[in-house]
Amino acid sequence: MSASESMPPYAGLALSLSVVEWWMIGAESSTESTENFQELCDRCTALLLVRVVAQACGISTGEGTTSICRKFLMKQEPWPEPITPSLINQVEQYVRVILGKYNDCPYHNSKHACHVLMSTNKLCELIAQSQLNGVHSYGLRKDSLANLALIFAALIHDVEHQGIPNRQLAYEDDELAVLYNDLSIAEQRSLYVGFAEFLKPDYKELRDALFPEKELYRKFRQHVVNLVLNTDIASPERTQLFKSKFHEAFPKEVDGKLVRTFSASSFGSDVEEEEDENEEAEPEGSMLQHLKEKCKSLDTALMTNIPKGPRRQRLGIRRSMDLSGEVLDSFSDHGQDPDAGGADGEDDLKLAVVMEIILTAADVAHNIQGWDQMALWSSRLYLELRKAYVNDRSAMDPSKQWFENQIGFLESYLLPLCKKLDHIGVFGIVGPKFAEITTKNRDTWLIQGIKVTDQAIKDGAAAFPS
Ligand SMILES: [Zn+2]
Repeated sequence: MSASESMPPYAGLALSLSVVEWWMIGAESSTESTENFQELCDRCTALLLVRVVAQACGISTGEGTTSICRKFLMKQEPWPEPITPSLINQVEQYVRVILGKYNDCPYHNSKHACHVLMSTNKLCELIAQSQLNGVHSYGLRKDSLANLALIFAALIHDVEHQGIPNRQLAYEDDELAVLYNDLSIAEQRSLYVGFAEFLKPDYKELRDALFPEKELYRKFRQHVVNLVLNTDIASPERTQLFKSKFHEAFPKEVDGKLVRTFSASSFGSDVEEEEDENEEAEPEGSMLQHLKEKCKSLDTALMTNIPKGPRRQRLGIRRSMDLSGEVLDSFSDHGQDPDAGGADGEDDLKLAVVMEIILTAADVAHNIQGWDQMALWSSRLYLELRKAYVNDRSAMDPSKQWFENQIGFLESYLLPLCKKLDHIGVFGIVGPKFAEITTKNRDTWLIQGIKVTDQAIKDGAAAFPS
């Protein structure tokens, strides 16, 4: 057997894609946007395969893609059992089928899927590396199933997207809107397509290797469904749920004290107070403060009447109850205190929030990377919206206010998202960089955005004349 035959397939490519600096993704040649479909397939296969190896071979000791690839390349050994050539073929086939089902939209296409997948991989990689500085990951580093779910979700997250916003599909009574009751229509479709393909007999060997127990598959599916639905940032319900989870998992520190978003009652519905980035502690003696105190005492009174045992637990975001009264754990809170949970204390809610932020950020990564990526993808999005507009599939003419709207998106959505990336703490010293890059892009947009907008409008009129 020659040296190259004994090398683990795709390890070299996965390594080269993982060592690219975050802000160079898309700009550096191995990651740049390409019309070469096979190239897109190879990149996605390489990064997915390494996560398959980590999950199937039990490599879960906090090793990132870079370190796994380096180790096997240095040993000059093929991937270990159960990673057989036919299993690798199944990964290749799955990626090819999924990327092939992406429509030829100007923005929501297979190039976007590949960019999001590479960016997701890099964020996971940064978290793996921040271990060296003793930074918490809330269990993500050693959770190979969660890492696999992130890459898988990135691959499928926009498959079969039609380039038409959900609200328009609902307005048109599109078949999918009827099927999914107007809720996260495109995302639900992508999940269906991704899982319907994955569950085919063609991928049995792959599934068996990844999920020797049914419970592992259930957990994987739960992660992926949650992650993909969370990319629907236009859904007020999803946004509100995410906010609630975020504030529950990562309370702000005010005067050295942790401040959780107020939950009107720990039993049942989580009614949240209005909160924003400038949220402050409620002043003593206010009406809201009074209400909070009342609810606290109500909780205490209720708690005293509940028999001791597993039911004496807080419901709401972490737990719920079914009709039989059985308490269902949504997120266990083992080791909520990171110091109590060792160097990398686990917390399912924190882990879920960290995962959601990773995919949400990766989905708009081009704005948080180099300026050229922001200009490129902003123009592609313009074209997609222009196409929908001239085809009477959108009432919004994107040429109006494009320059201003992009500033609004940068300031109202992206910068707060970047602050969250830093606030969760898992990126260590890299954390503040995301907001720095985005601020720089915002400043560059203020100077060059008019030119980029003019060009996009010209290209849009040529490609999709009215
Ligand atoms: Zn997307």
